[in-house]
Amino acid sequence: MRIAVLSDLHANLEALQAVLAHARGQDCAAFVCLGDIVGYNANPRECLRIIRELGCPVVKGNHDEQAAMPADTAEFNELARQALQWTRDQLSTEEQSWLKGLPLESETSGFTIVHSTLDAPENWGYVFDDLDAAASFVHQKTSLCFFGHTHVQGGFVRGDSVRRLPRGNVLLEQRKRYFFNAGSVGQPRDGDWRAAYAIVDLSNRRIEPRRVSYDVATARDKVLAAGLPPLLAERLLLGR
Ligand code: ZN
Repeated sequence: MRIAVLSDLHANLEALQAVLAHARGQDCAAFVCLGDIVGYNANPRECLRIIRELGCPVVKGNHDEQAAMPADTAEFNELARQALQWTRDQLSTEEQSWLKGLPLESETSGFTIVHSTLDAPENWGYVFDDLDAAASFVHQKTSLCFFGHTHVQGGFVRGDSVRRLPRGNVLLEQRKRYFFNAGSVGQPRDGDWRAAYAIVDLSNRRIEPRRVSYDVATARDKVLAAGLPPLLAERLLLGR
């Protein structure tokens, strides 16, 4: 059983379509979504429709939460705030209430999915280092958990201690716990502009982090045409 793990799509339709096509070519028959379907880019409704049609397990991201609020209730930087206001105006009441109803955390096929952290998912903290990961491991009930939110692909393992996993495929060992960031489909921030996602191969106990080239020029042009902040368009090409 191969499952594609998608996170931080951020309304980037070109990236999402490329990732879905790639995953299907990699024999993925199922999907999970770690949230932030909307925010930043130009196609929130289209991305939302695709994810809903997949009928896959989905957890809520902080942008999903805010897009479903009548006005800002959280501290966002100016770029995110402007994009959220624009996103709110695009979404129907029904779409907003669907986002609102998403859980913060879910268990599926024997692993856990969450957008931010397991210790306090509603606080939207970021897991960047071993210490952040250690706090989530305390609350992790399954041997594997996928998370997102930082837009940086890569993970952590807890054996005798918590350490960062080297790049590349991960073989899941018995009696160890894994907390893995699938990376961002729609706005990677690790210096690689290509869309990121992860495949989990449950039969072979393996995580395969993937990168997929997509039509980034079209995604950029749509951000500009929508009147969203130009910096949001430029960052797509930089992977920042
Ligand atoms: Zn995000």
